Amino acid sequence: MCGIIGITKTKKTNNLIGSQIYEALTRLEYRGYDSVGMAVISKDGIELAKDKGSINEVGEKLNFSEYEGSTAIGHSRWATHGAVEKRNAHPHKSNDGKVVVVHNGIIENFMQLKKELQSKGVIFESDTDTEIIPNLIEMYLKQGMSMVKAIISLIDKIEGTYALVISSSEEPDKIYVIRKDNPLVIGITDDAMFCASDIPAFLPWTREVIILKDLEIAILEPGNLEIISAENEQLIVRKSHEVTWDAEAAQKGGYPHFMIKEIHEQEKVLKVQLKTQNENIELAANMIQKANKVILVAAGSAYYASLNAYYNFINLANKVVIPCVAAEWSSIENIVDENAIIISVSQSGETLDTIKAIKSAKTKGAKIISVVNVVGSTLTQISDLNLYIHSGPEIGVAATKTFSSQSLMIWRIGYELAKINGSLTDTELKNFEKNLKDIPNIISEIIKGNEAKIRDISNYMYDQKSAFYLGRDISLITAYEGALKIKEIAYIHAEGYPAGESKHGPIALIEDGFPVVFTIPKDYTRDKMMGSVQEMAARGAVTIGVIEEGDDEMIEVLDHYIEIPKGYSRFVSSIAYNIPLQLLAYYTSVKRGLNPDRPRNLAKSVTVE
Ligand code: GLU
Repeated sequence: MCGIIGITKTKKTNNLIGSQIYEALTRLEYRGYDSVGMAVISKDGIELAKDKGSINEVGEKLNFSEYEGSTAIGHSRWATHGAVEKRNAHPHKSNDGKVVVVHNGIIENFMQLKKELQSKGVIFESDTDTEIIPNLIEMYLKQGMSMVKAIISLIDKIEGTYALVISSSEEPDKIYVIRKDNPLVIGITDDAMFCASDIPAFLPWTREVIILKDLEIAILEPGNLEIISAENEQLIVRKSHEVTWDAEAAQKGGYPHFMIKEIHEQEKVLKVQLKTQNENIELAANMIQKANKVILVAAGSAYYASLNAYYNFINLANKVVIPCVAAEWSSIENIVDENAIIISVSQSGETLDTIKAIKSAKTKGAKIISVVNVVGSTLTQISDLNLYIHSGPEIGVAATKTFSSQSLMIWRIGYELAKINGSLTDTELKNFEKNLKDIPNIISEIIKGNEAKIRDISNYMYDQKSAFYLGRDISLITAYEGALKIKEIAYIHAEGYPAGESKHGPIALIEDGFPVVFTIPKDYTRDKMMGSVQEMAARGAVTIGVIEEGDDEMIEVLDHYIEIPKGYSRFVSSIAYNIPLQLLAYYTSVKRGLNPDRPRNLAKSVTVE
């Protein structure tokens, strides 16, 4: 995820294009912010200004506002390939200096293409996957192709996801744009054309918008726009529409809060992750296989995501797995040795408690696998193997899409371990594989099918003081994470608890109207969960269950229920069954008049002990 902007305008208009690029990037800051760059394109060549740092730091240091010209492109990077360094910041130029590109996304087969280009003498300045693109285009142009043909040849070659903005000093008034799976919108005025990752980027200058679809090439010139299908080269006619949102609403994609936008984004984010990291996951599984014990280290929601390894690896790989809240590291430090594998999970890669634990584990010779979102973060620098979840920036303070994505990564390792160990039957393995593949779509189905119902349940929940969230086995993860979520953003005291353990104490608190939320997939825990529901209901609790679709007996005993499609009660259940609990926390927070994006006393990245 990153912020892209491109502008081409007539020379009649004011020529302070740098200040427009700067403003547009600032409006896209929520999409990525580790390094920033801009290119001004003219017939005399391409001027480049880029560096690592925030948009403000780089924009001021490199005097973005002083750049003049009529065509320019800009980028704020959210690194996926290559550390956060100036040389990796976009835009990237071709070796002959004539083609310039900014890219949002991931080119999966870039290694192979890079080698091919290197063997032809192309020199690379960055470690990004992006830099192959201007160089492939240069190669095609030199073969005599037009830019459109070169782009079509390019997309035949590359695999992955992209929104690409391309310009050339040979055609300095034009900007070429193509996308696949990453967003790109076009803004229109009589004397200028804009393209950007998102509408807020150009809202100060236009509200006339065209949304580009996958595998469409747009050719932007001042006062003229052409859209061509990259598949059959036919001209596409598309009407623009006028945007009425204000900039803030537009940044949230029309949603009232980032949190709900990020909940809805999960389908896409998980799909992106599933396209990457296969080799690293195999490496991770092999490392785990050789270890004598696996220790999980994480904090907050990431800790609950790490528990997926606890519930899976013990059974799938017959491993000793020890979960450890990062702040409690000193209690298990003594059993760490060179035969241990540590799996650390952190969205930011900057969680200080986790980093301290990892540094200590390294001194004992243990190997570190990190499941992390932010490329180049401290944790990634001290780990032996990094598994990137590629979720893009998460603005809502409470984790949603990153929890699902961290969990998915661990389920994917579990799948490899099951294959290595032969611990599942062929049918089970096939189901596992299918569930991994389908979970992004299932998430969307769950949201669509239940959002209105969950909003209703929040009308009951919002004025409660306390709640229990109960589960067993893998579903306990959901109970913990669901309780944490409602605590964090709705300020309702909630405890996630093993359902079987709840009768040893907590049940004393149950009285008429006390809410108890159950996670009840139809796995081996289901009948025991039925017992827990009855126990709580008998004492006056209001029972809310996340259940498998069509579990009629459960529907009869529960006061409220939310159904999850059949077939997700085991593999990836901790992802599927958690989605309604994210929505419940969100709508309860909103109903209480709170801002779910900015819960009091909490920070997104906890860099203190
Ligand atoms: N994969 C590219 C990089 O790491 C683009 C990342 C982005 O979308 O910002 O540079």
